[in-house]
Amino acid sequence: QEYEKVGKLGNRILVFVRLRPMGKKEKEAGSRCCVKIVNRRDVYLTDFANDSDYLRLNRLRGRHFTFDASFPDVATQQEVYSTTTSELVEAVLQGRNGSVFCYGATGAGKTYTMLGTTDNPGVMVLAIKDLFSKIRQRSCDGNHGVHLSYLEVYNETVRDLISPGRPLVLREDKQGIVAAGLTQYRAYSTDEVMALLQQGNQNRTTEPTRANETSSRSHAILQVVVEYRIRDAAMNVVNKVGKLSLIDLAGSERALATDQRTVRSLEGANINRSLLALSSCINALVEGKKHVPFRNSKLTQLLKDSLGGACNTVMIANISPSHFSFGETQNTLHWADRAK
Ligand code: ADP
Ligand code: MG
Repeated sequence: QEYEKVGKLGNRILVFVRLRPMGKKEKEAGSRCCVKIVNRRDVYLTDFANDSDYLRLNRLRGRHFTFDASFPDVATQQEVYSTTTSELVEAVLQGRNGSVFCYGATGAGKTYTMLGTTDNPGVMVLAIKDLFSKIRQRSCDGNHGVHLSYLEVYNETVRDLISPGRPLVLREDKQGIVAAGLTQYRAYSTDEVMALLQQGNQNRTTEPTRANETSSRSHAILQVVVEYRIRDAAMNVVNKVGKLSLIDLAGSERALATDQRTVRSLEGANINRSLLALSSCINALVEGKKHVPFRNSKLTQLLKDSLGGACNTVMIANISPSHFSFGETQNTLHWADRAK
C-alpha cells in the first residue's frame, strides 16, 4: 500500500507518526500492543488488548488521531524518508530552508529514525545520500558545496559533536544566529557520513549513572548547508544557499510530566527549556501568531531561520506499541495533534 502523496509544503507543519516494533524485553515482560495504525493515516490508541476495542474506540474522543501519514511498525527507513523528508531535500536544492524533528519519549525510536544503523540508515543519512544523487543529476555539479555541522544542546549548553570541546557561544551576525567556532565539515560522498554521525552520536552527553546511554535530555542537530551558483535571467551569477536541519530531540517524558504538575515543581533541573520553547514556537506558528518566541532557548535560537515563514517544517512523532508506555504515547499523540 502506498502512502498518500502529501500536499504542497508551505507554512503548515507536516506531522507524521511512526510506531516502532515491540521490543524483545517488552514481549518478555508480557507487554500488549495498545496502538493500531489503519490506512497509513489513522492511529487508534487503546488500553485494552482486545482487537475489537479499537473499533469501538473510533467513537471515543482523544483516542483516535489522524496525521499526514502514520507509519506502522513494518514501515521501512526508506518509506519514512521519502514520505517525510525527500521534498525538503528538493527544496534545499532550490535555496530554501527546512527542518525535520523526531519527537517522543525515550525509547520510542527517535534515534533509530534519524540516525538508524549501518544496515538500516535513517533519515539523516538517506537525506544526504539523496542530496548527493540529486546534485550529480544536475548539469553543473562542480558548483555545489555541501557542509555538515552536528551539534548538541544539553542543559542550554551548545556543543560541537564533530570536534567536541568547550561549549560554543551563540552569536548573532548578518546571516542570523551562529555557533561561534562550530565545525563545518565539507562532505564529498555519502560513505563518510554514517561514520561521522555515529562518531558524533558517541560524543553526545551521557548520564553519569549510565555512561553508555545518551542522556534523554540531549538534543542532537544535524545541519546540512548546500551552497551553489546559478545564472539568473540576466545571466548574472547568483549564490544560493539552502539549509536542512535534522533534529533528534530530547525525550519528551520529563517536559510533559512537568506540564501536569504544579508551578512549584516546574522549578529545578528537570525542565527541558529547549523542548518547552520549541513547543511554544510551534504552537505560535500553528496559530499564525506574529510573535514567535525564538529567543527563549538555545534550540529555538539555532533553528530560527529554519522554522516557519517560508521554511518547511516536518515533525515525526515516535511511539512505542507497548501498553507499558500508554501514558507517554497518549501525550506524544496529543502533542503531535496540536502541531498540525
Ligand atoms: P529513542 O532515541 O527515542 O530513545 P531509539 O531510537 O534508541 O529510541 O529506539 C529504542 C530501541 O528500539 C532501539 O534498540 C532501536 O534500535 C529500536 N527501534 C526503534 N525503532 C525501531 C524500528 N522502526 N525498527 C526496529 N527497531 C527499532
Ligand atoms: Mg535516542
